Amino acid sequence: LTERMQGVFKNLRGKRKLTEEDIAQVTKEIRLALLEADVALPVVKSFVRKVRERATGFEVSEALDPAQQVLKIVDDELTEILGGGESQLQKSPKIPTVIMMVGLQGAGKTTFAGKLANRLKTEENARPLMIAADVYRPAAIEQLKVIGSQVDVPVFDKGTDVSPVEIVKEGLELAKQNKNDYVLIDTAGRLEIDDKLMNELEQIKEVANPTEILLVVDAMTGQVAAQVAKTFNERLDITGVIVTKLDGDTRGGAALSIREITGKPIKFAGVGEKITDLEVFYPERMSSRILGMGDMLTLIEKAQKDFDEERSIELAQKMKENTFDFNDFIEQLDQVTNMGPLDEILKMIPGMSSMPGISDVKVDPKEIARKRAMVLSMTPEERENPDILSPSRRRRIAAGSGNTFIEVNKLIKQFNQSKKMMQGIMNGDMNSLLGQMGG
Ligand code: GDP
Ligand code: MG
Repeated sequence: LTERMQGVFKNLRGKRKLTEEDIAQVTKEIRLALLEADVALPVVKSFVRKVRERATGFEVSEALDPAQQVLKIVDDELTEILGGGESQLQKSPKIPTVIMMVGLQGAGKTTFAGKLANRLKTEENARPLMIAADVYRPAAIEQLKVIGSQVDVPVFDKGTDVSPVEIVKEGLELAKQNKNDYVLIDTAGRLEIDDKLMNELEQIKEVANPTEILLVVDAMTGQVAAQVAKTFNERLDITGVIVTKLDGDTRGGAALSIREITGKPIKFAGVGEKITDLEVFYPERMSSRILGMGDMLTLIEKAQKDFDEERSIELAQKMKENTFDFNDFIEQLDQVTNMGPLDEILKMIPGMSSMPGISDVKVDPKEIARKRAMVLSMTPEERENPDILSPSRRRRIAAGSGNTFIEVNKLIKQFNQSKKMMQGIMNGDMNSLLGQMGG
C-alpha cells in the first residue's frame, strides 16, 4: 500500500458508515495507485466508477474497519476484472492442438513457447512439436532450437528463405505424420505493430486453424501493452494472454488494462528467464500486487471468518477503555487458537515476514491449555483486576495450577504486553506495535 493510501485508510478507522466524502477520498487514492501501476486511463476511470457505485450506501460491518471493507470491495472488483479464477488452456478434440504465439518483438514469445512445451511434457506427458516461423532474424530460429534441445522437444524449421505460411503448412504435415499432440507455432514480432506483420499472422491463422492464439505481452511495457492488445485482438481475435516478466518490480497494471480492453483471459505468467519460470495466472494475487498490499486481504478474510464479530468489538472497546482483563485474555487466546497458527497469520502482514524471529512465533495448544489453567486458578477478583496479583497470590496460583512461580510471572507479563499491543492496534499506531513485537 502506498503511504498516501495508508493515510486515507487511517482516517476511515473507527467509522461506522462511509460518507460521500470518504468514498471520494478513497477512490481518488485508488485512482492514483492504478495510474502508478501503469493501468491505462480509460480502464482506471471505469474501474473507479464501479468501485464508487458499490461503496455508496454500503453498510459497514461491525467487526472490520471501514477502510478494510473498502479495500475489500476494490480487491473483489479487481479480481473480477482480472478474470475471477484461473483459466485453462483449451484443447482440440482431435490432435494436434495448435497453439500460436503472437506479440511484439522481445515480449517473450520464443521463451514462452519453450516453457509451455516443457510444461506440457512434464505435466501431461505430451509430445509437442515446435515450429520456427520467425524467419526475419536467423538468430530467432537458432534460439528456438536451443530451447527445444534444452527441453527435449523437436523444432521444425526451414531456415529463413521459405515464407512463414509455407513453414507452418509443412510443420503441421509433419506433426500429423508423427502424431504430435501439440503444435506450438513461434511467430515473428516487430518493434511496433504494422500491417505487414498483421497480414502475415492472419495468413498463418488461416492455414493453421489454431485452438489457441496466445498474445504474449511484456508486463513492463504498461500503457503500450494495452494498445498492443487491442490491435492484436481486433485483427486476430486472440484466445488468451500471457503476461511475461512479472518477476521484475513492475506492479503489473498492464494485466488489468489488457484484460479489461480485450475481455480475453490471462492464462499464464512468465516469472523469469529459466524454462521452469512459468506460473498459472491467479487473478487474486495479481489484484493484490497491483494495489501493492501483500496478502493483507487474505489476512482480513481469515480474521473475518474466524472471529466472532460482536465479541471482537466488545474486546476492542474494552481495550480502548483499558478494562481488558484476564477473562478477556482467555477468550482472546481461544480466538487465536481458532484462527490457526499465529506465525502464518503474522507472515501475511506486509513487512512482517522479513522481521527477525517471526518464524519462531508458534501457538502451541499445550501452552494455551497451561495458560488457561493458570487463569482458572485465579479468583474472579484477580481475573478482573490483575493489578492485585501480589507475589504471594502468584505463588498460590502457581501451586493451584501445577505451574512454577516463574511461569505465572511470564503469563502476567504476556498479558500486560498483549494489552499494550492491542491498544496500539486500536489507536492505529503500527510503529509502536512493531516496536513492542520486536521487544
Ligand atoms: P520474443 O522476441 O517475443 O520471442 O522474446 P524472447 O522470448 O526472445 O524474449 C526476450 C527476452 O526476454 C529474452 O532475453 C528472455 O530471456 C526474456 N524473457 C522472456 N520471458 C521472461 C520472463 O518471464 N522474465 C524475465 N525476466 N525475462 C524474460
Ligand atoms: Mg522470438
